Amino acid sequence: MIDIHTHILTVWGEEPFTEKHLITRMEELGIEKFVLLPIIGPEVPFLHFLSEDAIEVYQRYPDRVIPFCNIDPRAGNNAPDTDFSFLIDRYKKAGCRGVGEITANMYIDDPRCINLFRQLGEAELPVLFHLYSKIGGSYGLADDIHMPRLEKVLKQCPKTIFIGHAPAFWTEISADISEEMRDFFPKTPVKKTGRLPKLLQKYPNLYGDLSAGSGFNAITRDINYGYHFLREFHTQLLFGTDLCHVGQATPIVEYFQQIKEEEIISIEQYENITHKNAERILKLKT
Ligand SMILES: [Zn+2]
Repeated sequence: MIDIHTHILTVWGEEPFTEKHLITRMEELGIEKFVLLPIIGPEVPFLHFLSEDAIEVYQRYPDRVIPFCNIDPRAGNNAPDTDFSFLIDRYKKAGCRGVGEITANMYIDDPRCINLFRQLGEAELPVLFHLYSKIGGSYGLADDIHMPRLEKVLKQCPKTIFIGHAPAFWTEISADISEEMRDFFPKTPVKKTGRLPKLLQKYPNLYGDLSAGSGFNAITRDINYGYHFLREFHTQLLFGTDLCHVGQATPIVEYFQQIKEEEIISIEQYENITHKNAERILKLKT
């Protein structure tokens, strides 16, 4: 299995989740490879973990770690025409396979974001983003309800692969999303034809990161709809945990074991979601 979303992280006020913790947990869970996501930026309640830190861990565990780099859309000149090639070339050369987790709290269709996304498309580096409901109050690229700005971005950057994450992304699995619930974990059954499935159908460059409470809640809040969703979008979904706390539960691991054993999704669908999609978009086999 490949985990699309892990961290080495110190959350303010918590025991640090260290390199050793991460490697040990991945071994215990039987996850062979994992994407290590740097976290930067002033909006987050975490100590920064830089691209350079992820690359160092990759050098120690080259067969296990898939390093991403992190680039803030405001880096450089804080302008919509910044040339990011210095960073992109440097990090690609060091082995980075994607960019994220983007946590900058700015609109996802801000010209500075579009500029970065276009350059990442040219460089063939997928971008993993945390989506949030508004400007201010927390971290993550911001969009309005029903994700109109994300759609604009998908249209304007067709060469860029986008991997969506967090409640404001996953609550859109259901058509009855309310403004109040966008950053939470609704337990109600899914009302079909949510905005997210519609965007996945329309834009092959959009992927869903199933990690964390948000991704797992989306596919389990309505268990049968969840199975249907996995079957329909098996080429655009990515298994992940978002491990970043000591002692964190990872119910998604048992969930995937169970649906494999009970043949709820086909072997092909299971393999796509748990490693083949990641291998393809992160170019791990080339
Ligand atoms: Zn994360």
